[in-house]
Amino acid sequence: MRINIFTKLLSILFLSISMVVGMFIFVAHSLNNDFINRVYDEVEFVLTENSTDFLLTHADKNMEYLQGEIVNYMYFSDADRILGEVTKFISDSSTDAIYVRDANGDLLAKMSKYEDKNELRIFEEADELLAIHNDAYIQIDKKIALAQRFFIYDEPVGSVIIVSNQEYYASEIGTSLEIIQSLSSMQRDKHLYQFAVVILLSTVLFLFCAGALLTRLLDPIRRLRQDINNFGEKTDNSAPFEDYPNDEIGDLAHSFKMMRDKVSKRENEIVRLAQFDPLTNLYNRNFLISHFESLVTDTDRQVICLYMDLDNFKEINDTFGHDEGDLLIQEVAGHLAMLRTKEYDDPTLAKCFKECMTLSRLGGDEFVLLIQIDDMGIGAYSLGFQIAQQVTSLFRNKLLSYNVTSSMGLSLFPMDGNSVDELLKKADIAMYSAKAKGKGRFEFFNEEMSSALAREKTVEQLLIKALEEEGTPQFHMVYQPQYHLRSDKLVGVESLVRWVHPQQGFISPAEFIPIAERKGLIEKLGKVTVRLIMQDMKQWRQFGWALPVSWNLSTVELLKTDIVDFLIEQLNSADIPRDLFNIEITETALVTDLERAKTQIDMLRNNQFKVWLDDFGTGYSSLSILGEVEIDGLKIDRSFVSAIGEGETSKTLVVDALVQLTNTFDIYIVAEGIETQYQLDYLKATRCHFGQGYLYSKPVTADIILNQYTDQAAKLKSRAC
Ligand code: C2E
Ligand code: CA
Ligand code: CA
Repeated sequence: MRINIFTKLLSILFLSISMVVGMFIFVAHSLNNDFINRVYDEVEFVLTENSTDFLLTHADKNMEYLQGEIVNYMYFSDADRILGEVTKFISDSSTDAIYVRDANGDLLAKMSKYEDKNELRIFEEADELLAIHNDAYIQIDKKIALAQRFFIYDEPVGSVIIVSNQEYYASEIGTSLEIIQSLSSMQRDKHLYQFAVVILLSTVLFLFCAGALLTRLLDPIRRLRQDINNFGEKTDNSAPFEDYPNDEIGDLAHSFKMMRDKVSKRENEIVRLAQFDPLTNLYNRNFLISHFESLVTDTDRQVICLYMDLDNFKEINDTFGHDEGDLLIQEVAGHLAMLRTKEYDDPTLAKCFKECMTLSRLGGDEFVLLIQIDDMGIGAYSLGFQIAQQVTSLFRNKLLSYNVTSSMGLSLFPMDGNSVDELLKKADIAMYSAKAKGKGRFEFFNEEMSSALAREKTVEQLLIKALEEEGTPQFHMVYQPQYHLRSDKLVGVESLVRWVHPQQGFISPAEFIPIAERKGLIEKLGKVTVRLIMQDMKQWRQFGWALPVSWNLSTVELLKTDIVDFLIEQLNSADIPRDLFNIEITETALVTDLERAKTQIDMLRNNQFKVWLDDFGTGYSSLSILGEVEIDGLKIDRSFVSAIGEGETSKTLVVDALVQLTNTFDIYIVAEGIETQYQLDYLKATRCHFGQGYLYSKPVTADIILNQYTDQAAKLKSRAC
């Protein structure tokens, strides 16, 4: 059995009170006894001290009385009458004897109770004293005698001796004292009894008050315990811990309240952490998956799964640091969340974003938007299209600190699969396909994409192996001659990498370069190409050629700082002048991060490298970009050149405009992909400076350049040497 604190406290209180009361009674009892004894002693002392006086006074009175009664009888010697009076004293306990004598000393009457020898001695002494005095006082042992001669008109008539017994009187005192004592002890017991009753009543009263007080005190404790239990068992989550007295219990309740608040806050935080991504405050992967799972239980419903990944996020992270990367992720999350509050012309689209969208971040730069469509009267495909367009426009409008784009893949439930895993995987595959097709775009999943993805994985693995091989024998460079259009003279070559895999055969750079860029292999590959080019250029140098080579530098590589140092070191060790090494960077580099690109371009040019802008016209940059960066020239993308003669007037006009522009900026322009004489003639007529294309030559090996272009290349010798 558990004894509660109330009972324990009460027992301790009761025990203490009992002990105090017991001691009190004991002390009071001893004090009372002591007091009675002292009173008794005092009385005894007083009585004993004064007993002689009492006896004498008494005897005196008796003497006086007798004098009045018997003096006449004595005169007449009437012994009978005298005896009559004297015998009256027989009952007087203090009087032992009375002797009456006549004037001659003869005994007239006598009353004696004991008649012992002391009495006789008293008489003898009295006779002697009375012979001299009229009265006398004699004491022998406990007997006291008063003797007095009586006179009538000065005539002696006789004497009286009264013997009083002090002993008897002492016994009287003893009896009185006994009575006093018994009365006192009765009184004392009565006092004790009253005392005990008073103490008992006070104790009961005290216990009652203490009980009431304790109950009052314990009541908040009980309430507190209840509140704590409620909180602990979660039966009542609103356990108030309030309305407590302003005392220690109140303080305790307050502490518990604070603790409860903290625990609740922690719990909420834990729940939040379990469901939310701390960086963006969007839902996390866990929540997304469980929510998605709950959605795909109902096949009458349609769900759009949009998988989004930022393009080139890795470069931003690598170049500007993770803090900047995190800020960008937060910015993107903020803009995605703003899709909910934007104004839309189409109410269905508005409803999609406001009510049916679940936003989550899977990690890194990957986001997933789930849109649940219930009876919207519009197909999932066309709605998905509009949604993806809205997301794309977030990146087009340059709202973000960095010029990034995003690639998106969409999968649809129930058309593309029934499980969350399958739908996410397919959206991911579609997203990869969008990236492979040039980034900044979206794709709906289709079955061919799966095989494309599998192919990409294979290529990636093969590429990793090929790059690890000693001397990288699977790679070699080819060179496409570049011409001065008006004079048809060779002015340089563009280097292009070739990969011939022992089993897979030729793999196009158009396929593996983007994979190398995505998988972080491009830097390594770039260095391989530079080394290969150096070997070829060294060979040409042996013939005294000064053939300029254009080298393609990937955007990813450009944004890395150490590429300049690497190039300088390579060219120095191969003893190649830097102005023979042209660097082609794509326009997308400027779109991704203009500032960074500008710094890098400046650094390259300051080190005597020539920098050309490749694929111009495809990177969504405006022409005004030419005013912002200092470059040596630009290359019109093949798509514009191939439009010449095909009736695509707008593209042809772009070619015209670009040629005009380069003249204004005083930079060179190269037309790529010249395949027909018509194109060449047109370009010549527009005063385009340089050109390359299958019409002149396909890219060929260094040996072919050496053998077939000997004459033309040799002419470059004089310029360079
Ligand atoms: P790009 O820099 O625009 O290179 C020109 C591409 O156009 C080359 O394709 C070339 O073979 C092709 N070409 C040249 N003239 C004609 C023509 O008249 N008609 C047609 N239809 N095509 C023509 P290639 O070699 O397949 O390279 C594709 C892309 O791969 C290149 O485009 C470049 O972006 C990249 N690439 C190739 N080699 C390298 C390299 O060594 N490093 C880097 N970073 N990228 C490279
Ligand atoms: Ca190029
Ligand atoms: Ca190009």
